[in-house]
Amino acid sequence: MPQPIIQIDAISKSFGAFKVLDQLSMQVMPGEKLALIGPSGSGKTTILRILMTLERIDSGHITIDGEQLYHMERNGGLIDADERHLTRMRQKIGMVFQLFNLFPHMSVLDNVVLAPMLTKGVPRAAAEKRAMELLDMVGMAEKAKAMPAELSGGQKQRVAIARALALSPKIMLFDEVTSALDPELVEEVLNVMRKLAAETDMTMLLVTHEMGFAHDFADRVLFFDRGRIVEEGKPDDIFRHPKQERTQSFLKKII
Ligand code: ADP
Repeated sequence: MPQPIIQIDAISKSFGAFKVLDQLSMQVMPGEKLALIGPSGSGKTTILRILMTLERIDSGHITIDGEQLYHMERNGGLIDADERHLTRMRQKIGMVFQLFNLFPHMSVLDNVVLAPMLTKGVPRAAAEKRAMELLDMVGMAEKAKAMPAELSGGQKQRVAIARALALSPKIMLFDEVTSALDPELVEEVLNVMRKLAAETDMTMLLVTHEMGFAHDFADRVLFFDRGRIVEEGKPDDIFRHPKQERTQSFLKKII
């Protein structure tokens, strides 16, 4: 039996008095394509941010690729994670955000080569060669010299995907990557993600409101409400025959 690449055990996370995640557990198998759906505020983005170490957990355990993300004390408290350990763990994961987050003062090419050069010490020539392959894969090779401000939202997002791939992560996280785009630009980004899903064995977690895409893309869909997984299953089961009342009423509103 292969081991899960992501193992989350009973994690909780509060922002002030608001409990975003409540004893959440989930597993993701290597290569699995997962869609996280559910109402706004149900904690989906927070899970991705926690995996990317952009947010800390209050309690619980997370193992990624066989290694604890954080070291825990016996009493369950977090030991302040060693920055070198976190940097290494982050290299296993690429994340694409809703709002692109490209470095505005750098060319497309420099955006993509930066992380491999800084965090892995890849020489510029090798980093550029790989970056050009990735930009070609997302259809952005001829814009390598352009600055982010010269690009459309869909183009920026495709560059952001190439940048996230530059460290050859085992896991890719996509956080509502099309929700800030004009409708006519959504498809070009979804096409890149379809291609990635078809051509690589990366594990992918997708938070999305695009239910049609979630249905086609995912091996498994998790429906979240109030920091908990209310229902999970194959896309056809969740979208066509949801069992839980909360899933049914959510899908009725959104589809
Ligand atoms: P979802 O992705 O399901 O819409 P989120 O994980 O983004 O939900 O957020 C869950 C809740 O946590 C929201 O109500 C949000 O306002 C709150 N929240 C998220 N991040 C922070 C933060 N850094 N500080 C305070 N509240 C936050």
